[in-house]
Amino acid sequence: MLIDSHCHLYLGSSAKDLSNIIDHAKDNGVGKYVCPGIDIATSKKSIEIAANHDEVFAAVGIHPHDAKDAPDKYIETLENLAKEENVVAIGEIGLDFYRNISDPKIQFDVFRRQIELAQRLDLPIIIHNREADEEIINTLKDFQPVNGVAHCFSSDLETANVLMELGLYISFAGNLTYKKSGLPEVVKNIPLDRILVETDSPYLSPIPYRGKENEPSRVSVVAEKIAEIKDVSFEEVAIATRKNTETLFNLN
Ligand SMILES: [Zn+2]
Ligand SMILES: [Zn+2]
Repeated sequence: MLIDSHCHLYLGSSAKDLSNIIDHAKDNGVGKYVCPGIDIATSKKSIEIAANHDEVFAAVGIHPHDAKDAPDKYIETLENLAKEENVVAIGEIGLDFYRNISDPKIQFDVFRRQIELAQRLDLPIIIHNREADEEIINTLKDFQPVNGVAHCFSSDLETANVLMELGLYISFAGNLTYKKSGLPEVVKNIPLDRILVETDSPYLSPIPYRGKENEPSRVSVVAEKIAEIKDVSFEEVAIATRKNTETLFNLN
């Protein structure tokens, strides 16, 4: 069984016909899902979806793009939401200096406060990182030991090694399959017992679906690619990534 460790089920086609999307993913061997929020409203939405679907687990958090719109007392709100059943992490949170939709200063503040919250509640964090390797690493160094995952990993091997030393798992998405990607080199050189797979649906469709809306069934394409790179069986990748995801998020 595969687990899609990161999919936004409240967006795109999933939002309209989730049962159909889940059935289709099930046919492709996908059995569990972690659905992270990007702001308060979508965090609530994730909890609602998890309450209605046994296979879905929720995470609550404010994405760096949305940091600028974080309401007053958002930490208190997230803390209350995090206590709901089926909430398994704080996420997605992090830094995005590619698009800089929120001012960097605000991004840092919202990121740090949510890490503090996660550690207070003893929950793992789901980290979004775009062009912020150094800043993410330096921030996490203040919070060691860190429990969480670098979602949609898109950096180099050295960064992966440092993040693993800090305590993180590394999660790969569809961009692993892109022709010019340097990510296969990273996959080759990190142990399978630190790897998670995800789709980041509805974004980042793997080849040959690139450009189309993504869906959780395609997490199998990412797992297949990892099997090919590491020259192990698909089954071995499925078993390892499932175990890693269940351990990290304490899924049952
Ligand atoms: Zn992200
Ligand atoms: Zn995401």
